[in-house]
Amino acid sequence: MSDELFYKKKNIHDVISDDEKKKSDAYCELYKDFLNKAKTERESVVEGIRLAAERGFTPYKRGMAVKSGEKLYTTAAGGKVLMLAYIGQKDLSHGVNIVGAHIDTPRIDLKQMPLYEDGGMAFFKTHYYGGIKKYQWVALPLALHGVVIKKSGEAVNIVIGEDESEPTFMITDLLPHLGKDQEKKTLGEAFTGENLNILVGSTPTGEEKDSDRFKRTVMTMLNEKYGIIEEDFLSSELQAVPAMRARDVGFDRSMIGAYGHDSRSTSFAALRAILDMAQTPAKSAVCVLVDKEEVGSDGVSGMQSAMFEDFMEDLCEAQDVKLRDCFHNSFCLSSDVCNAFDPNFPEVSEKQNAAMLGCGLGVLKYTGARGKGGASDASAEVVATLRTVFEKSGVIWQMSQLGKVDQGGGGTIAKFMANRNIPTIDAGPPVLSMHAPYEIVSKLDCYMTYKGILAIYGRDES
Ligand code: MN
Ligand code: MN
Repeated sequence: MSDELFYKKKNIHDVISDDEKKKSDAYCELYKDFLNKAKTERESVVEGIRLAAERGFTPYKRGMAVKSGEKLYTTAAGGKVLMLAYIGQKDLSHGVNIVGAHIDTPRIDLKQMPLYEDGGMAFFKTHYYGGIKKYQWVALPLALHGVVIKKSGEAVNIVIGEDESEPTFMITDLLPHLGKDQEKKTLGEAFTGENLNILVGSTPTGEEKDSDRFKRTVMTMLNEKYGIIEEDFLSSELQAVPAMRARDVGFDRSMIGAYGHDSRSTSFAALRAILDMAQTPAKSAVCVLVDKEEVGSDGVSGMQSAMFEDFMEDLCEAQDVKLRDCFHNSFCLSSDVCNAFDPNFPEVSEKQNAAMLGCGLGVLKYTGARGKGGASDASAEVVATLRTVFEKSGVIWQMSQLGKVDQGGGGTIAKFMANRNIPTIDAGPPVLSMHAPYEIVSKLDCYMTYKGILAIYGRDES
């Protein structure tokens, strides 16, 4: 009796078949490969296009016919956004099934004039990106990724520090022996943004009487290797990211540790799922991988940008469909990670409603803060739609919430999709140590995220 009356969360390990477990492991190997290849939004787009081309997706060009069965992709915002569409059997007036996920990740950006020297060492000044706990980013190997646009307009791509044969870069920390005053400070005060300077060299050039000798060594090497001069930093985007590769975590290898599960676990799932669709869906499937979620989704590459309407309107025009009719009948899964209940910090969660590691895709009816402020609150009907779709496809999922009431909060791209009059709901795997340089997810949760997204792309309800 009680079995039917009461809801009980399932640990995926208790219910998954051996065959499905194998599929999950295979999927997670692909995911780890993506994590290692794509640590920035630009790299995610490049790798996304490479994988899409393997599955027959071709570049969309404005004005081309948009017919059932076609697999198209386009980039926007200078290669920081990737949008893919698998055109369905029904025309776009029936709506599309959208999965949106972000490909930007908290990190340490270089300032526009970064290089300086002090104490016989050369450093880069930085400005962190996204919500980081600054103390986590010191005394840790970093790699530099990004692009420098030279005066001539030539773009120089830089990735250095990932291969073990290459040098790495670090932000220093104070030795505990002299940490008496530092230890009295709060976590938020002990490390300041202006102190997150990256050590990049310690060899002088020229004679002792010369100035800028340590800076000169670094600039000379950059010039020899990349052909850039200091002024070129003005038109650059260089990001310092953790130099560690994705690895299995635990004796049982049930988890993955990596930089950027938020939100490569969902952006990769959204990408892989649209590529893996076995046949032309009834309604069109659309995958949107966007930048700038971690800083509010503003700007040309964020989810608030008109680039999404531009692409969708182009597709609709090609089928003589009004964009508003398409949006009105569409459905969006905003796929972003949620926080896993952490037994080391139980005080911030309310256990009954918290996502548990290994219990499946975490669905957030709402996010927000202080009385759901700023939330896109998905309706009971939207949740019911998900329940039905997931039930039909054997997706193991759980309801989630971002911590105890009034403990804090946050948001995703969900509200910006919902503001377009598209019913939208958040879902993604639970993450431990979210926004840390090395985050943890459960492999089976990642696989269920992929399965859930595949089910959403294939849904055919009105
Ligand atoms: Mn996220
Ligand atoms: Mn985040």
